[in-house]
Amino acid sequence: MKIKRSGFKNLIRMMKSLEERVQQCNRCGMCQSVCPLYAATGHEKDVARGKLQMLDGLMREMFQNPGGVSARINHCLLCGSCEAGCPRQVSVMEIFLTARAIITAYQGLSKVKKFFFRRIMAHPDLFDRLMEWGAGVQYLFMKPLGKTPASCSQLVSPILSNRNLVAIAKVPFHQKLLHAGKSSPSNGPKVAFFVGCLLDKLFPETAQTIIKILGHHGANVIIPKNQGCCGIPMMAAGDRESFNQLVDHHIRLLNAEEFDYLVTGCATCTATIKKIWPSMAEAKSFPGKESLIGLAEKTMDISEFLVNVMGVSPRPNSRNNQISKSEATYHDPCHLRKTLKIYKEPRILIQASSKYQLKEMSEAETCCGMGGSFNLRHYKTSTEIGLKKIDHIKASGATVVATACPACMVQISDMMAKTKTAINVRHVVEIYSDGLL
Ligand code: SF4
Ligand code: SF4
Repeated sequence: MKIKRSGFKNLIRMMKSLEERVQQCNRCGMCQSVCPLYAATGHEKDVARGKLQMLDGLMREMFQNPGGVSARINHCLLCGSCEAGCPRQVSVMEIFLTARAIITAYQGLSKVKKFFFRRIMAHPDLFDRLMEWGAGVQYLFMKPLGKTPASCSQLVSPILSNRNLVAIAKVPFHQKLLHAGKSSPSNGPKVAFFVGCLLDKLFPETAQTIIKILGHHGANVIIPKNQGCCGIPMMAAGDRESFNQLVDHHIRLLNAEEFDYLVTGCATCTATIKKIWPSMAEAKSFPGKESLIGLAEKTMDISEFLVNVMGVSPRPNSRNNQISKSEATYHDPCHLRKTLKIYKEPRILIQASSKYQLKEMSEAETCCGMGGSFNLRHYKTSTEIGLKKIDHIKASGATVVATACPACMVQISDMMAKTKTAINVRHVVEIYSDGLL
């Protein structure tokens, strides 16, 4: 492995920054009881404690067995359950992401990832066009699921484990916007909407619902054009180059002085903008540090905004209200509950709906098993974790499962289709908007 001198210096710098943070872990093992991966595999090497122990000797391990280090550090959902419950407040997510960046800097990025991240995803225009083309040809590889009420189709290829995928929308949200009329200004707060890839390309109706709700509550909505991915897939793959490129793109696009709040409908985008973008800015070379911190402070999940800023509250419980309501259960996305501690607000949105009442499932806070690229690389384990979630959803007796992250919606839809379960998967804003708009 040949590394340039500047790259080598960077590697040493990252390793040093890792060293101190790894040593904060006192190996108490409390992360074992909350790790969904450990619950599925029972392997100590999968839990945060095992990974941190390995990272303690990273320099030696990496030279001896780089493939093994990479496999272990990448076998993780990045769900943050370990960090949320850690009594020593070890910054496990930052450590894991830095470790992935070190491994990638040392081993290099695969050609496929390099091409896809740096040539396609880092250029939002190009990524949009590729996905629009994909929307046209996807049915060569997918078949509809007939009467199964899941909102996805089955991939024909057994090589891809017969996954059930949510189809790419024929008209993505950013295209729908081109034909939308201008809303009249109000005295409400100025809200910029960060769409995110999945809402734009898979769930454009959800994004439209968010805009309608914001308008209903009197917000002045700004939707900056040419938005792209928040960068989490690149960061998770250790590719800081394309991640920096995307953050740089957005920092030019989203001028925090032009709005009061930056709202998203994706738990992962919110957590990435609030936590990962500013921690990235600690790198001295990054020019937009102040702007990133300013942006992070203004960023909110849609449920947090509606409840804590616009004052949405639960409807009073009257007998008449109860009789006609359907039951909706709620799944907590890890990035919302564990990373940002937001779990009351989405539930309040359900309780504020005129058509639904909240029916809690057990273990609502447990990961659905998606974990972004984890699902692509470790589908069997991802499915095992996902099917447990379906059992809890079914046991709740609800007719709808709501959540606040489009990635969770993709995973839960796949598991619903696999088990032929007739429970609708919806974004929590849709539950709130039913009967309101
Ligand atoms: S809970 Fe925290 S301190 Fe304890 S082993 Fe896990 S990471 Fe280390
Ligand atoms: S991030 Fe999640 S899957 Fe990874 S070690 Fe922590 S709890 Fe386990």
